[in-house]
Amino acid sequence: MASRDVEYLLIGGGLASANCARWLREEGADGEILLVGREPDPPYNRPDCSKGYLRGEESREEPLFRPNEWWAQQRIELLTRTSVTALDADARTATLSNKQEVRFAQALLATGANVRRLNVEGCQLEQIHYLRTLGNADAIREGVAQAEEVVLIGGSYIACELAASLTLMGKRCTLLMQEAVTLERGFGARAGRFFQELLESHGVRVHGEDELERFEGDGAKSAEGRVARVLSGRGLELPADAVVVGAGVSPDVQLARRAGLALGERGGVRCSSRLQSSAPGVFAAGDICEYDSPVHGGAPMRIEHWDVAFNHGRTAALNMLGRDVPHETVPYFFSVFGDWGELEYVGPAREWDEEIVRGSYEGGEFTTWYLKDGAVQAALTFGRSDDLDHARRLIVSGAALSEHERAALGDAGSDLASLAP
Ligand SMILES: Cc1cc2nc3c(=O)[nH]c(=O)nc-3n(C[C@H](O)[C@H](O)[C@H](O)COP(=O)(O)OP(=O)(O)OC[C@H]3O[C@@H](n4cnc5c(N)ncnc54)[C@H](O)[C@@H]3O)c2cc1C
Repeated sequence: MASRDVEYLLIGGGLASANCARWLREEGADGEILLVGREPDPPYNRPDCSKGYLRGEESREEPLFRPNEWWAQQRIELLTRTSVTALDADARTATLSNKQEVRFAQALLATGANVRRLNVEGCQLEQIHYLRTLGNADAIREGVAQAEEVVLIGGSYIACELAASLTLMGKRCTLLMQEAVTLERGFGARAGRFFQELLESHGVRVHGEDELERFEGDGAKSAEGRVARVLSGRGLELPADAVVVGAGVSPDVQLARRAGLALGERGGVRCSSRLQSSAPGVFAAGDICEYDSPVHGGAPMRIEHWDVAFNHGRTAALNMLGRDVPHETVPYFFSVFGDWGELEYVGPAREWDEEIVRGSYEGGEFTTWYLKDGAVQAALTFGRSDDLDHARRLIVSGAALSEHERAALGDAGSDLASLAP
């Protein structure tokens, strides 16, 4: 087996790896950097897959992390269509699917997440899609070209964004989910209802507190051909020319597990606040990284957000360069409903006992503050982005707010800058 040496091996071709490579160079790393990813495309911004790229408004180049020539200019070797099949963290070697063995001084594991597949009757029918990659987005765009009725399975942001994008593409969309209202799991019922009503006001039909039972096809036998109907546990029969399932993801820790790295209670690769895994010289970032988060009192966090992957890449690079910096960014999330609006969120709040609304749902412009024992855990905003910096400050402080301060949170005319700390 051919073998070679590199200073930095970055495993996974997503945003976390790409941004790590960038920051290694920006911060002066001189050694060889090898980034290995199994997808055919160079690293790109996955959020475009449910938004502009899906709708055909963006070229294949637009979602790219950097233009193709950038990698060579930065002396970063990019191997696409290549997997790392084995990792020996003690020997600091990795085996690639092209049969090369790579010896590394330091490695980053950023293998991301895989979609959860629903293995119900009829799941092998044509035009049942999942969405993770640019290739999946191409398949959905082509698959819905002749479709009138599209059913989205799931009540989270992927299904909601798809409902918006596909409605804008002229499709009649129906959403089927377990939740009572969309986005309820992350943001609670009141905010969730606001987003559901936003979708419904544009013609999306939403069925909550139900679930997928099976699919039926248009073939001679119902399990053959193209999908034609979605059947729900509560007895709904939804016509469907195409289906997209957004039933969550699970971190891809196969390689990490086989390498014997410690895994955490949230299913990710267990890391310190410096994003260092249990193996010296091996770091983790992005969707698989379960790190001790200083801004959450040291609690282990694993968060599947674009911004987290982006910032993890930087923190990992700095620590690979020996800077010894904790990952102290407050996680940020955004989700876009076509041209109907965009939500932004900092947090996350795992649990809360109080919601305070600044602005109003009825007025279509609000920030909802999520508090536990009087302290701000998270904030969700629709149209009030300026509130987010205050939210970050309050989350980091962890301080319980007085009654007077909590009243100020809910008063759109109050000056948030004057709030503690
Ligand atoms: C359709 C869609 C829309 C999204 N929209 C938003 C949004 O609006 N806002 C937001 O905050 N977040 C959004 N996200 C989430 C965000 O994109 C992810 O959190 C982020 O991409 C994670 O980056 P990552 O680098 O950790 O992993 P990934 O992007 O998953 O990259 C990991 C890469 O590693 C590859 N890989 C895995 N194993 C190996 C191996 N053994 N060898 C080589 N390569 C390997 C994978 O194939 C993959 O290409 C969206 C995600 C999707 C799918």
